Amino acid sequence: MEGYAGFELGPIRPPSEAGSLLLRLTRNCPWNRCTFCSVYKKHPFSLRSVADVIQDIDTLAGFIDLLKNKPGSAELNLPELSSGDEQAFYSARNWLQGGMESVFLQDADSLVMKPDQVIAVLTHLRECFPEIKRITSYARSATIARISEDHLQQMAAAGLNRIHIGLETASDRVLQMIKKGVSKAQQIEAGIKTRQAGIELSEYVLIGIGGREFSREHALETADALNQINPDFIRFRTLRIPDSNDLFSGAEDCHWQRPSDLVQAEEILLLIQNLDNITSRIKSDHMFNLLQEIDGSLQQDKERLIAALQKFINLPPQERACFQVGKRTGHFLNLSDMQIPSRLTQVEEICRQQQITPENVDAKLNALIQEQMRRGMF
Ligand code: SF4
Repeated sequence: MEGYAGFELGPIRPPSEAGSLLLRLTRNCPWNRCTFCSVYKKHPFSLRSVADVIQDIDTLAGFIDLLKNKPGSAELNLPELSSGDEQAFYSARNWLQGGMESVFLQDADSLVMKPDQVIAVLTHLRECFPEIKRITSYARSATIARISEDHLQQMAAAGLNRIHIGLETASDRVLQMIKKGVSKAQQIEAGIKTRQAGIELSEYVLIGIGGREFSREHALETADALNQINPDFIRFRTLRIPDSNDLFSGAEDCHWQRPSDLVQAEEILLLIQNLDNITSRIKSDHMFNLLQEIDGSLQQDKERLIAALQKFINLPPQERACFQVGKRTGHFLNLSDMQIPSRLTQVEEICRQQQITPENVDAKLNALIQEQMRRGMF
């Protein structure tokens, strides 16, 4: 097709979209100023044309047809494909093998495209692949707050099933300091509008974003906003940033101080304790999170989630440090893994060798994480 810039893939997707086809509507992030986020920092934002996105869909559809109708076409002679087509081929093949159930629209804020254009893409996607069960996208609250209810409903009718919003926090003070470019009121408005349009909503909360100083405010303000939104999912994420990054660099006389794992567990506990009369499901579905067992429905499992956090908080300091080390070194997934003698022995040996104590555990683990980041392991 004339002028077609070729098939494109963006850099990231939510972990819950691991099996989804990735379809790029825009490049990078139209905001790109959050102090904690480096994903798109060196890359300027741009919109892709609807024609190019439609061409991507048609290219994928062509490969899917080929793979379905020609056994053995998985062995296509790849050198004959251009690099863009090669990416499209692998995307099509992986998606077909995964059952072709869901599509994730990239990059950071797809709904910043004109609503009519988003709807045109959704419609073409559904026409080409009627078997799709779910189409999802990241979006900024500030963007959704600007979209009319009518347009959001049209997007839902065209097949947009779920929106992932990086809420991070609902403390206006912290939102300003981290340059999120949105207020608590806009976060609430965007969340309520999304749900009222009949679109499922995942809200991401950044544990530790308030630092030590505003941990309590972050937990309480965020719980208050979530109580008003009642999202389908509340997903916790753990900050992993270089020591050189002061998240409050725009604030006068205020520096972000890295909270310990204990402070972060107390923050999550306070947040969950203050979630009331909502039906959200809590997920801790990222490998960096300390407590993977914080997973359940608020209506049915709130007490279990609270008990798991209290269990960690109330561990004797030596055992708590042992769990932190075991989790961060991949020996433990859940608190119950400490009951597995072989793993416990390995972690205790690491603690002995590295001279890790309850007093220095957070500093030692942070040094390990900083080194991993320097070596580009995450
Ligand atoms: S809006 Fe999202 S993608 Fe953009 S800078 Fe902020 S956190 Fe990063």
